[in-house]
Amino acid sequence: MIIVMKAGAGQQDRDEVLERIKELGYQPHVIHGTTRDVIGAIGDERGKLVLHSLESMHGVENVVPILKPYKLASREVKRETTLIRLSDTVAIGGDEIIVMAGPCSVESEAQILECAVAVKAAGAQVLRGGAFKPRTSPYSFQGMEEEGLKLLAKARELTGLPIVTEVINPETAELVAEYSDILQIGARNSQNFALLKKVGQLKRPVLLKRGMAMTIQEFLMSAEYILSEGNQQVILCERGIRTFETATRNTLDLSAIPVLRGMTHLPVIADPSHGTGNYHYVAPMAYAAVAAGADGLMIEVHPDPERATSDGPQSLKPSKFTAMMTTLRKFAEAADRKL
Ligand code: PEP
Ligand code: MN
Repeated sequence: MIIVMKAGAGQQDRDEVLERIKELGYQPHVIHGTTRDVIGAIGDERGKLVLHSLESMHGVENVVPILKPYKLASREVKRETTLIRLSDTVAIGGDEIIVMAGPCSVESEAQILECAVAVKAAGAQVLRGGAFKPRTSPYSFQGMEEEGLKLLAKARELTGLPIVTEVINPETAELVAEYSDILQIGARNSQNFALLKKVGQLKRPVLLKRGMAMTIQEFLMSAEYILSEGNQQVILCERGIRTFETATRNTLDLSAIPVLRGMTHLPVIADPSHGTGNYHYVAPMAYAAVAAGADGLMIEVHPDPERATSDGPQSLKPSKFTAMMTTLRKFAEAADRKL
């Protein structure tokens, strides 16, 4: 159920409602809006008649059921897109298109620093780089782990770019959160519910990637795991799904962007690097994603893709990335967005 507060309701009104929700055995989640707050009361739907009694409380406008199975993620609960602040100057979910760029894996100090400087100069606002790598094969490079996190922190110090890096299990989640500004949950872990709950308890924005065989509803149910633990800062990332097509690594489902836009208030970005698996296709699909309404992009960039330890074939050289950003500005402008 959603308890919609009146526009002028104060702190005391809100606290009383929160108290009553808990008394009734529900978990309250406050969602701040621009004109009014709404409170999601999550729990057994069978008790919804009892929750209706909250309509008589001071400060409450009305009580409405949330019809969708994903509750806190739904647009029903919050009309405006959630704005997630990544640094003093960077926020995702607003007018600006946010580009997260960098190598698939952190490989060395020289590589990550060179990459960070190059993507910043081209206009990226966030640096990506994997330190814990969830590889399909146990024999592939598994990442530099904590050493890689330290190098990412060094790159942030040098450039001021916030960092997004992947967390692959609950045991190392806090360690990753110490170093990074955004916690990435990869496609392979997108239904690892223990991990989703864990990052839901941490105070860091989460970039949740769509699983390769996940419906949009399942994607939102995974986001719901994070939100229901108290972390309201979730960014969704369409990164391609598995289909019968073999000409590309995955099929980037661009239609998921407007579909998600209608279903959820969470910001949505696209990853055309993993979505296509081939650097030739990255720029056109990046433009298309912005045209489709994405709030941002994740792009793999490597100074020397031929020698990359992972995902070289889909990584752009810095010069190609810079050229892509120049054209992307025109698409952003046409979509009435800034870059
Ligand atoms: C990555 O971002 O490097 C990655 C492993 O992506 P995905 O989880 O989408 O495959
Ligand atoms: Mn990768």
